[in-house]
Amino acid sequence: MAEKSFRRLREALGLIQHGSFFNIRTAVVFLASAALLCGIYLVASAARGTSEREGDIRVALLADAHLIGPQYVCCTESNDVDNESIMKTVERLKAAQQQIEALSPPPAAVVFLGDVIHNGYYSHNFEWYLANRNAYTVGGEIFGNFSVPVRYLWGNHDYHTSCGSAADSYDRTGLSHRLFRHFLGPAALPYSAVQMGRYKLIFLNAMLGPSWDPTHPRCDTKYASLGAEQLVWLERQLGGGGGGGGSGSGGQQPTFVFMHHPLPAALRNEAPELKHPDVLSVLLAHADNIMAVFSGHYHRHSFATIPAAKTAAQGAAAAAAHARDVYFSPMAK
Ligand SMILES: [Zn+2]
Repeated sequence: MAEKSFRRLREALGLIQHGSFFNIRTAVVFLASAALLCGIYLVASAARGTSEREGDIRVALLADAHLIGPQYVCCTESNDVDNESIMKTVERLKAAQQQIEALSPPPAAVVFLGDVIHNGYYSHNFEWYLANRNAYTVGGEIFGNFSVPVRYLWGNHDYHTSCGSAADSYDRTGLSHRLFRHFLGPAALPYSAVQMGRYKLIFLNAMLGPSWDPTHPRCDTKYASLGAEQLVWLERQLGGGGGGGGSGSGGQQPTFVFMHHPLPAALRNEAPELKHPDVLSVLLAHADNIMAVFSGHYHRHSFATIPAAKTAAQGAAAAAAHARDVYFSPMAK
């Protein structure tokens, strides 16, 4: 059933690469990617066979829609594939929506892996976005029509930081987060976690740390960073104390982590005052609980395993998707 559904989803998205992950303990993940819009149908099951058990989950993953509004001027992307693709992103996202909503059994949620909106900032004034149709309006119209609940995380194109110039940057809390909530609804939080079946899903925000702070000496938007507050929160979600007191709220449970940038793009030692001073350090400290880390951003399929990574440095050498005991085998065409 999942195989058939995946094939339909792949056709809808115009996918160019595909494959499958097998976690020998618990999870089966179908992965596919397109030029801009990428889709995955995740079936996480406690059983290796086809039968499902209580607590299993089904989640559709989408990434990198890069929705544009009427202000967008074609075509300034980094390559011809993206220049062609970005003009089709609305129709492709709607086609993906139709296919996701036709899946049987239906997924419990759609997780959107970031770069929802493409460079959508045309004013520092929130009121401008209410008065003028724009890319957030487009996003609100499409996602407001999804019958499957959508959980968001955000990507680099959902923010705009100009390092060294606060005046040329768009305020992350005062503007971006207001736009997300207003146009995409109460689930459009800066970062969040949810319990689904017997799994925890953690949605990280990689633009809240020093690499996205225009006034910080380490500002460089090529890199992902979470900020100390979110790092402490993540540690607690994974069952640790967070270094800031209080009890962990996560417990020891199988967890999927979602972050727009693949982990090698994450800034190291971003919060030196913390025991685990960056996202990779926190994840490695709790690797036993983490089933996989999913990312968007690169617009292409890749994966890596870190089964023997004992140090953060070893972990940093691994590539885009990480998990213990995850193996890859290409699907037959
Ligand atoms: Zn991106």
